[in-house]
Amino acid sequence: FQKLKEGLSKTSGKLVGGMENIFLGRKEIDEDLLEELEELFITSDVGVETTMKIIDSVRQQVDRKTLKSPEELKLALKEQIFNILNIDNSLVQTTDRPYVMIVVGVNGTGKTTSIAKMAKMFKEQGLKTCLAAGDTFRAAAIDQLCVWADRVDVPVVKQSAGSDSAAVIFDAIQSCKAKEMDVLICDTAGRLQTKVNLMKELEKIIRVAKKELPDAPHEVLLVLDATSGQNALSQAVKFHEDVNLTGIVLTKLDGTAKGGSIIGIVDELKVPVKFIGFGEGIDDLKPFDAKNFVDALFD
Ligand code: GDP
Repeated sequence: FQKLKEGLSKTSGKLVGGMENIFLGRKEIDEDLLEELEELFITSDVGVETTMKIIDSVRQQVDRKTLKSPEELKLALKEQIFNILNIDNSLVQTTDRPYVMIVVGVNGTGKTTSIAKMAKMFKEQGLKTCLAAGDTFRAAAIDQLCVWADRVDVPVVKQSAGSDSAAVIFDAIQSCKAKEMDVLICDTAGRLQTKVNLMKELEKIIRVAKKELPDAPHEVLLVLDATSGQNALSQAVKFHEDVNLTGIVLTKLDGTAKGGSIIGIVDELKVPVKFIGFGEGIDDLKPFDAKNFVDALFD
């Protein structure tokens, strides 16, 4: 928790540090204060619509005199952000075996690392976990996944580079059924240049997975780099349009992130953050907890 907190204090440097500056020495709430907060939220990548929603809501409370002091205003902001982020984020329940998770996201966001971290977490929970090397576009991606799988000591289903990604994942589901594996985590390609083809490939993976297991995939998780600001929002919108995400894995919260973007993303998509990554190490992943997150942002 300490590590997360340290990470978040960096992440939220702009948002929270900025808020502290704005509130410093203020004795009352005036229009100036609300405008400064609005500008800070927008420049911290919270997104214009979500910012307006938050600020309008507190402005109404100020007008109704239910918020009287800057201290109360700060608490109201905290509550607004908590309410946005506090969507049920437990993993989708099923009795299916394997539990199929498809992990999508743009290259470089931390997809492979997050898959390895999740595999370790499930393994530690006593679940028989397997990986599928569905990023068949780059030989290096397959190799990299295998290196992680070795380290975590879980099996990988793979084919050579250039093979059909949907076929790899179909095989992996079959193999997991035969071997009575509990969880299958599937890597996918994340090339940004050919978005249309990528989305078609992901749709095909999902279609083909259902042939082997009708309720699969149980989770479609999008990995987003917290340092990428407004870019993360446009990526999330695009992926959600095409593949119906069940959750977000937010990585690099230990970096100097523009941490505000996740507030706007969750508000707009209503897709919960399921896991957060806060370092390059294998244990640097945790289920997301909205209360801890907001506490760390504000304290
Ligand atoms: P992929 O291309 O999406 O599969 O991304 P990788 O998993 O290869 O990660 C890209 C880089 O980001 C690697 O150098 C990782 O070590 C790093 N990385 C991934 N997650 C985190 C994180 O939570 N924090 C930090 N600091 N680095 C991360």
